[in-house]
Amino acid sequence: MTMQGKKEYNEKLFVSFQLSQRIPENNFYRRLKSTLDLSFISRETKSYYGSEGQQSIDPEVFFKFMLVGYLENINSDRKIIEHASMRMDILYFIGYDIDEELPWHSTLSRTRKLYGDEIFISLFRKILSMCIEKGMVSGKRQAIDSAFIKANASLDSLKEKELNSDTQSYLDNLNENDENHKVISLKKIKRVEQRPSHLSNKTHYSSTDPDSRISTKPGKPRQLNYYGQISVDTYSHVICGAMADFADKRDSQSLPIILANTIGNLKKHDILIQEVIADTNYSSGEALKALEFNRITGYIPNFPAYIPTREGFSYDPDNDRYICTQGAHINYYKIQFREECTKKVYRTSSPTICYACPLKATCLGQNSQKYIEDTVDKPLYDRMHERMQTTKAEIMGKIRQSTVEPVLGTLINYVNMKRLNTRGISQANKHVLMAAMTYNLKKYMKYTNKIRNRIVLQVKETLKLTYIYQILSILPNLYNSFRISIQICFHLKFNIV
Ligand code: SF4
Repeated sequence: MTMQGKKEYNEKLFVSFQLSQRIPENNFYRRLKSTLDLSFISRETKSYYGSEGQQSIDPEVFFKFMLVGYLENINSDRKIIEHASMRMDILYFIGYDIDEELPWHSTLSRTRKLYGDEIFISLFRKILSMCIEKGMVSGKRQAIDSAFIKANASLDSLKEKELNSDTQSYLDNLNENDENHKVISLKKIKRVEQRPSHLSNKTHYSSTDPDSRISTKPGKPRQLNYYGQISVDTYSHVICGAMADFADKRDSQSLPIILANTIGNLKKHDILIQEVIADTNYSSGEALKALEFNRITGYIPNFPAYIPTREGFSYDPDNDRYICTQGAHINYYKIQFREECTKKVYRTSSPTICYACPLKATCLGQNSQKYIEDTVDKPLYDRMHERMQTTKAEIMGKIRQSTVEPVLGTLINYVNMKRLNTRGISQANKHVLMAAMTYNLKKYMKYTNKIRNRIVLQVKETLKLTYIYQILSILPNLYNSFRISIQICFHLKFNIV
């Protein structure tokens, strides 16, 4: 007879079962349930509900489902519900028993659309506050960066934009007033837009998600995207600001907005940002002005076209003019407004000045007078250039790489930020906020653990030391007892003898 066991499964109709007893004390969701108080959500969402009709999903439950989606890296509402129904710890976290029916998945998407961005911002701030109270955030130095988020629309949904009569009058106006601008015609625009490689946001839009934008990164295919912008505290890598933006905007255009968001998030805790680190994509007059306005020291490399000094010309700041090696003055002439940036134009006062100059051919080119163009924000770029030559700036560059880039990588690969399952800029914003707060929450839970482990370690160390001390303290007594025993033995021996 063999003693090999075999388990037979006989399904019971009635079982005695208590969900809370099945979840271990150190389970992540069990700890999260006791740590995260979402009671404020019901108060904040009260205005979204009327007094009649069907009862809605509990707002706390809705946000718990959302958090589960991001914690488990699941990008579909249907899959979140499926996943939750098979995980006892998640059921315990959201407050459902194993035989209770879970909400229908479309309830999640409807509720997500119903709540405004401000509810998601409140929850983001609540979790950030928890991190701040734990001493995880210094907030003084922020590293800012962005990543594309794939929109929930394909390039097949692109439709041609209508060019109305206003466009022709705009082009006529542009051609007339800007002498340096190449002549543009409607015919030319239409010819360009026919080529698939020239599909652009100027000529096309997505009919399924009009807020998404055609965009690409070097070596990557074109697709419809949004931008996710984040601001990370360099002390403990907690995300202090997060938002979505249109993917055809430059990073530098988004900087003043993400900066204002982050300042607003930290203001309640009296934390003032002192330094901001970002890559060269964030370099623009607008961005530098926003930093100086908020009295923040920036570490942002100037864009590659920036020229700190012009060979053969020196700048005279008192008279706001350039002086060439031949002694000619190139004086301030006018301000020129361009779409990309506003320029300050300098010009020699008369063509006769350069007439007899031996450098004329190379210096003037096709012009009869010398022209120099600078951005109106040159003093801001000059100050940044000077700062970027320091050793501190070098260190800042390394801090940026080791801070914000890994955080973005985690958000995209492990916290579900990679793609949207909703449409529109507002939904994209909620998506980025949810991913960012989930990341912070995970960090918060780990940090709590770290502190607890450290305390346990310290207690153990203390106990160990106490134990050793106790042994050491009884050693003299032991020695004395041993000495006395020997003496007694000798004494007895002596007596016997
Ligand atoms: S061409 Fe005119 S601006 Fe240029 S070096 Fe000669 S004098 Fe100076």
